[in-house]
Formats: sequence, structure tokens, C-alpha cells
Amino acid sequence: MTKKKYLRYIMIGVVLIAVVVGIYINKHSRLSDVNYTQFLTMMNEKQIEEVIISSDAKLKFKQVGDESTYLTDNPRVEGFKEKLLLSGVKVTESSNSSSYFAQSIFSMLLFVGLGVFIFANAKKRGMGGGMMSLSASPVEANRLTQDFSNIAGNVEAKEQVQDVIDFIKSPDKYVKMGARMPKGIILYGPPGTGKTLMAKAIAKEADVAFFSVSGSDFVQLYVGVGASRVREIFAEARKHKKAVIFIDEIDAIGKKRSHNAANSNDEKDQTLNALLTEMSGFKEDEGIVIIAATNRLDMLDDALLRPGRFDRHIEVGYPDVNAREQIIKLHLKNKPISDDVDTKALAKQTVYFTGAMLENLLNEAAISAAKSNISVIEKQDIQTAFYTVIAGKEKKDRSSITQLDREITAFHEAGHALVTKLVAPDNSVAKVTIIPSTKGAGGFSMNIPKDKMYLTKKEILNQIKISLAGRAAEEIVFGVENVTTGASNDIEKASQYIKDYIVKYGMDEEVGLINLGIIMGQDTLDNTSLVKKCSEEMKRLYHETKDLIIDHRGILDELTQALLEKETLEESEIASFFY
Ligand code: ADP
Ligand code: ZN
Repeated sequence: MTKKKYLRYIMIGVVLIAVVVGIYINKHSRLSDVNYTQFLTMMNEKQIEEVIISSDAKLKFKQVGDESTYLTDNPRVEGFKEKLLLSGVKVTESSNSSSYFAQSIFSMLLFVGLGVFIFANAKKRGMGGGMMSLSASPVEANRLTQDFSNIAGNVEAKEQVQDVIDFIKSPDKYVKMGARMPKGIILYGPPGTGKTLMAKAIAKEADVAFFSVSGSDFVQLYVGVGASRVREIFAEARKHKKAVIFIDEIDAIGKKRSHNAANSNDEKDQTLNALLTEMSGFKEDEGIVIIAATNRLDMLDDALLRPGRFDRHIEVGYPDVNAREQIIKLHLKNKPISDDVDTKALAKQTVYFTGAMLENLLNEAAISAAKSNISVIEKQDIQTAFYTVIAGKEKKDRSSITQLDREITAFHEAGHALVTKLVAPDNSVAKVTIIPSTKGAGGFSMNIPKDKMYLTKKEILNQIKISLAGRAAEEIVFGVENVTTGASNDIEKASQYIKDYIVKYGMDEEVGLINLGIIMGQDTLDNTSLVKKCSEEMKRLYHETKDLIIDHRGILDELTQALLEKETLEESEIASFFY
């Protein structure tokens, strides 16, 4: 038996004993509750034989001629014991009760279990496993196995961390320039898109030690333990001079704090505060960078995102068809494959797959090939694996749903791009994609020229049309009954514009140059007529947007086709449709 196995058996044993003891205690402590006034009545009637007092919220007692134990509220008043004694009740203090003893054993076992667990994990990590633990011991740079060559796709994210790597290597260079480098970086995006991989690769590229913890590991700790772990890790990192500290699932400790005191969690807050304190404590020229990962950026506490903390936010999103092909090729590198495997076709087939799912897919395919004793992975193995991986994700027939969803998204996004090009040809449409981003469905990014100080009336109206164009395209193509919820952010944006247009900027001719808020007073503002005014104006703009799209339906269809094929279109590709 190896040492590792041995440890694991101890661990399992300890946990089992703890569970059994736990169940025992639970079973024996499910006592019936008697309300306190009833208890007093019983006492007056001399029905109480014995009371076991403690500092707990409940106290236990026994009735005359009854073996069972009952519970009642502990009044915790002075002189309670004397009162009991005077009325002839036997009083016992609870510290020597058997359940107290059992409970101590239970907690002790848990502690030992936890200790063994942490110890075993630290061992495992030392051997290169990926399991997170609270240990402060890092993976040294020379034992990290993955660098940037192990990340396919994620091009933008890789670019956005280049300077950070350079900074870790030679912080002085940046300090001399008076540059303030981020102390913390947040990688956000769906699970399995390569955030952990990226953090490890950064450490490897910068040639520094890699510390990793997971926010969720802190959650069940006793108050104060999490905070002191954080301090330990930072102290250890400082000893290494330079390091990458990776905190996975930062939301587990850094969720927006609730203002409701009853919901606040002391332990989480303490851990978070310790983290923030440590981060503000280390100097800029130290070459330590904290990288945190989360699925949801919008859930994080603002305190975390302030300058000097995690002030660089990098999206690590779903791979598009090109990125998927590269990921597939990367994970096929060490696998023998048959000529009938077409990586391009596979990339097309795997819409909405993350890097982790692709890795899993190819691994399953390799297993399937090995099982059937063939020398190379064949197309059939990949197809079999495809359905295994998909079935593991969702029961429904995903592929057909996905196809319709993709088409709706493609028309919607093409609508935005088309109308932008038509009404605001000077604005650049940097990128259109049908791959969902964490910020919302679909993806459309447009940059309003930066060198403008003001927006004109016409530009505001055009912005509204651009926002409405997604829904307009959906309606034109799929019919008014089939429009989707995908436009909700667009509608929000358009509503803000139209309100400002009328209320703030005095641009509506009928209402005139007045700020409605001031004229009418915030409280007495005539909401119904304002709503009516906004909605009329919006309807008119929506109508114009639809006409615009109908007049250029051919380009809409072409853009949509291209999007369905390539999933992402860059600026120059979009421009090519407009000559
Ligand atoms: P996350 O931290 O975002 O949940 P991980 O970094 O743990 O995702 O990714 C899990 C695995 O998926 C990686 O170890 C790798 O095998 C694979 N993977 C994910 N993204 C990529 C990518 N862009 N290139 C290559 N492999 C990837
Ligand atoms: Zn939209």
C-alpha cells in the first residue's frame, strides 16, 4: 500500500466514525420540548424530578416516574438553581452529561479528520494534482507543467495579461516609469473555459511560484480561521519574493455584502477583509500578483473591485468555432487519430462547448478507442463520446434547440450590426458574435468614436435605433409572436436614452427645452403622460428601424449566414458586406 493510499484510508475511517457518532448524538438528542410556563406549572405541582442545567438555550429535565428527558427554554436567570433546589428538585450541571462527552469526541474527531484531509491534499498537490487546499505551500515554477502553449484560443485574455507577466519578472521597470500595475486580476467566465489554466500559465511564464486556494474552502471554517489562512498564504508568498496567488471561486468569500445584518456571515467578511488588508499591504515593486476567478463578475462586492485591488477584469469566455478547432487540435496532439477525423467539422459541431468539455470529449473518445482495441481514435469514437458528453450536460435534445437559438441570435446580432452600419457608418463595429458572453446573450460590441465630447440629437436617436435593431430583426424574420427575451438589455438602454432625450436634454420639440424633473418636482412628476410620450416616440423609432432593415433584408441575411458559419465576425469582415 502506498503512503497516499494509506492516508486516504485513515481519512475515510475517521470521517466514518465521525458520521456514526454524529448520527448517534442526533438520535439521542431529539427530545420533546415543553414550554416554559408548563414547566413552571409542573414544578409547582412537584412533578419535576431532575433538572440538568447548562449555559445552552435549552435545558433538560426529567419528570417523576418517567425515564425520558425533556427540554425547555433555559431562563438563564440568577438564583434559578437555588429555586430548583428549594423546591426539592435534583440539579445536575451539564458538563458531565454523557452527550457533552460524546459531543467533545465528535468535534475532536472532526478536527483530526480535517487535519488529515488538509494534510493529504497538501501531499496530493505537491505531487502535481490540481486539488485546491488551504495549505500555504505553493507549486514551484519548475513543477508547473502548463504555459501559454497549452492554452488555445483565449487570444484577447492572453494579450491582456502579457504586461502583467512582464511586470512580475521585472517590477522595477514599471515602478521607474511611475506605472501602477494591477495587484489583482479577475478572470471571469463560465466554468471550464480555462481560467485556472490561465493563472497557472501566467505563473509558469513569469517563472514564479503558484499558490492556489478556492474561496469555497473558506466557507465552512470556524470564525477567524479563514482570515488567518489568508495571512499565512501571503506571508509564505512574500518569502518567495515573487509569486502568483490564485483564488478560485472568489465569489464564495467576495459576494456582495448584504446590508441585512441577520444574513451577514462573519467568517466570510473576516476572510474578505483579511484579503483586502493583505492586498493593500504589499508594495507595488514586490512582484506578487493575485489572480481570482469567478463565473459571475456582477456578484462581487464592490470593495473587491476598487482601484488598487482587483482592478483588471478579463473575460475568459466560450470559445468560438476557430478557438474550438485550436483547442481540439491541442488536445489531439498526444493522441493517435485516424484520417477520417475532421477537426474543422468537429469544431462546428461543438457549439457552446467549453475547453473543459472539449478536453473531456476527446478523452472519452480515446477511452472508447482503447476499449475497442483499435490503434487510432476514429470518427465513430468521437461521435459516441459526443453524445456521452452532451447527455451528461442536459437530457433534452440539445442540438435542435441549439440550432434555432443560434439562428435567432444570429439574426438579432446581424440586425444590430446592419443598422449601425446604416445609420452611423463612422462608428466602428468591432466585433459581432453569436457566442454568448457572460454579460448577456449574444454579443455585439460597438465603439462610439472616443474623440467626441457631445452626442447630437440625431446620434441619440440613432443609438436608440441601433439598440432596437436586434428585436426588429427578430420580428421581421420570425414574426411578431416569436420575438424573444433576448432584447431586454437593448430595451433598457433604449429606454434610458429616450427618457434622457425628453427629460434631460430638452430635445423633444413638443415638450421643449425644459427639464421635466425640475419643472414638475420629482414627486409630482406626471408619470402617465411622460410614459405615454416615451412610448409613442419609441414606437415611431422602432417602426423606422424595421423599415430600414426590411429595405436591406439582403444584407441582413448575408450577415446572418456568415455569423452562423463563423460565429464571430471582425470589423473588416463586417465592412465587406457594405459595398
Ligand atoms: P476554469 O478554471 O475556467 O473552470 P479550467 O482552467 O479548470 O477551467 O479548465 C479545465 C480544463 O479544460 C483545462 O485543464 C484544459 O484541459 C481544458 N481547457 C479549458 N480551456 C482551454 C483552452 N483555452 N485551451 C486548452 N485547454 C483548455
Ligand atoms: Zn441585442
